Amino acid sequence: MTIDLTSPITNVKGVGKETASHLMTLGIETIADLLWTFPHRHEDFRLKDLAQTPHNERVTVECRVEREPTVLFMGKNKSRLQVTVLAGRHLVKVVFFNQGYLKQKLVPGAIITVTGKWDRGRQVINGTTVTFGPKTEQVDFEPVYSLKGLIPQKRFRKIMRQVLDDVIDVPDSLPQSLQQAYKLLAIREGLEGVHFPLDAEHAKQARRRFAYEELLHFQLRIQALRKARKDAEHGTVISFDLQRLRAFIDSLPYELTDAQKRVVNEICKDLKSSHRMNRLLQGDVGSGKTVVAAICLYAAVTAGFQGALMAPTEILAEQHLESLQQWFMPFDIRVALLSGSTKTKERRQLLEALADGEIDILIGTHALIQPDVMFQRLGFVITDEQHRFGVEQRRVLRDKGEHPDVLFMTATPIPRTLAITAFGEMDVSIIDEMPAGRKQIETHWLKKEQMNAAIGRLEVELAAGRQAYAICPLIEESEKLDVQNAVELYEQLATYFHGRYTVGLMHGRLPADEKDAVMRSFSEGKVHILVSTTVVEVGVNVPNATFMMIYDAERFGLAQLHQLRGRVGRGEHQSYCVLVADPKSDEGKERMQSMTETNDGFRLAEKDLELRGPGDFFGRKQSGLPDFQVADLVHDYRILETARKDAIDLLATKDFWQEAEYHYLREMLEKSGVLQGERFD
Ligand code: ADP
Ligand code: MG
Repeated sequence: MTIDLTSPITNVKGVGKETASHLMTLGIETIADLLWTFPHRHEDFRLKDLAQTPHNERVTVECRVEREPTVLFMGKNKSRLQVTVLAGRHLVKVVFFNQGYLKQKLVPGAIITVTGKWDRGRQVINGTTVTFGPKTEQVDFEPVYSLKGLIPQKRFRKIMRQVLDDVIDVPDSLPQSLQQAYKLLAIREGLEGVHFPLDAEHAKQARRRFAYEELLHFQLRIQALRKARKDAEHGTVISFDLQRLRAFIDSLPYELTDAQKRVVNEICKDLKSSHRMNRLLQGDVGSGKTVVAAICLYAAVTAGFQGALMAPTEILAEQHLESLQQWFMPFDIRVALLSGSTKTKERRQLLEALADGEIDILIGTHALIQPDVMFQRLGFVITDEQHRFGVEQRRVLRDKGEHPDVLFMTATPIPRTLAITAFGEMDVSIIDEMPAGRKQIETHWLKKEQMNAAIGRLEVELAAGRQAYAICPLIEESEKLDVQNAVELYEQLATYFHGRYTVGLMHGRLPADEKDAVMRSFSEGKVHILVSTTVVEVGVNVPNATFMMIYDAERFGLAQLHQLRGRVGRGEHQSYCVLVADPKSDEGKERMQSMTETNDGFRLAEKDLELRGPGDFFGRKQSGLPDFQVADLVHDYRILETARKDAIDLLATKDFWQEAEYHYLREMLEKSGVLQGERFD
């Protein structure tokens, strides 16, 4: 019987009812399902030199039996056989448990091939398998599959081998032109290499082919979805006045960084186009996103549109207002602030002016999304620190305009691989460069018993007129956790510095007005040391604060530590960050170490991704990341970039929609429904 990819698994010779039902449990119903069940690793049976093999690693060696084995019986069916062998130039022992029957065959002079775990210290191989004679037929790599114990590996391998031999026709879903361009293995060689590689190179090339294919499929779906959306959602054409925009940029107190120039261009291109902008602007803390926002808002105003800028807190909104007013001073731009504490009468006047188009740019908090806030001609909406707002809140603001362009800003550096995967439907702009002359924040990692050194430094900073943050993981004392709490630390520091410096307390359980009051006193310099939980994380700007202590720092992820640290180093003075931590795990130690080594948020994010993996990077639930069989977002970022570019190019070419060689890819897109602009998950 000939079998092809769609044949049921029961058509395979020797696969009976029982095996078929186990396979079914593993999700394998057809030949294709079987062939695309890839092993999660390979057992490596290549011959090794013991001198080069690290402790506890598995080895396969060819050796000669030197002495009669000794067998020790240890109760019913339990035995330990030990035999001395010569492997290369090494005289070592091989031990087998419960395989006493080997004794007869292991005669001195016999050549055997042994696989097992190498105990370097005791010079013993803890053998698992042995074959007699030199290594001849045995394969180098044996696949190991995830079979949940339902089917023995050996049996599954046999079925796989047989199917690979029996299937005549495996259509190649990867177009010839792409295979050639990247020198990728054709489908058959690829499948062989994934399951039964001839050597390490074969395995590597097979992996490369399927990683590319998976990522290409994934990117095609994302890019097709994005394109469908773009075509469906008509945006506003904002034909800004380039000359006026140039004049504004020239009037700024500093030259933009190259990265800022690049993202301004990207955003302005979106503004001008008839597509609706849906863009994420990523830039580390202090990379200068606000001025980019101001420039683009200004552009919208020169085209006769209104703009809105939404910030997560009142303080941030006020800071934005201040910056924008300063930059817009020489220009005829009307900026206003709307927040929860805007007085009723003032609010009414403001809303009238807004509806009449007398206000060009409205800055505010959630207050912006109330129903009675109406714009005359809203063309461009920016939300700062986008993760602080829910999807719904962002949508409401967006719907206040006709089809306003939307820009989301975030200071959470997300590794590019994840950004283009998880936010694949958005365009992503990245400011990956800091303004010149920024001082690095000197970061130190201390154990708890070294706290005195930190307090000494704190004294120096305070004496020089600077301010400081002390961050704790907890608000109040907890019975379960032995970590620093803010209330207690506040009391300790207040006592210690009594009569010399003022200490403030800030945490999430304070009423909003108290929080604001404390923050305000701190930014006015009336409070010298602010003890706080992580609520200070976002956006707060107090340039005079130069010192930060983070207690029990190992409890925070790298991204969060970096965000926290970004509260200092915002002024002209050298700043310091002290991590107080006694991490137990290697991973925790590595995190602390990384913090002391770099100030670069993107590098830390990459590190975080490496340490915790893509699932944990976002927290599992909202990750929005697909599961890949072979592709790995941490290591395959180059392949991902290539696949992304290829997907975009393919969708844009006429060939793609006509040429026969792309028919499989088109079919896949059609099947996944994305061409109709549906969401896929
Ligand atoms: P963030 O991206 O964290 O929101 P900000 O927009 O608050 O950063 O910018 C941080 C500081 O850097 C601000 O004081 C801002 O005026 C300043 N800044 C922004 N761009 C530049 C630049 N190109 N050169 C010098 N300073 C800049
Ligand atoms: Mg900001």
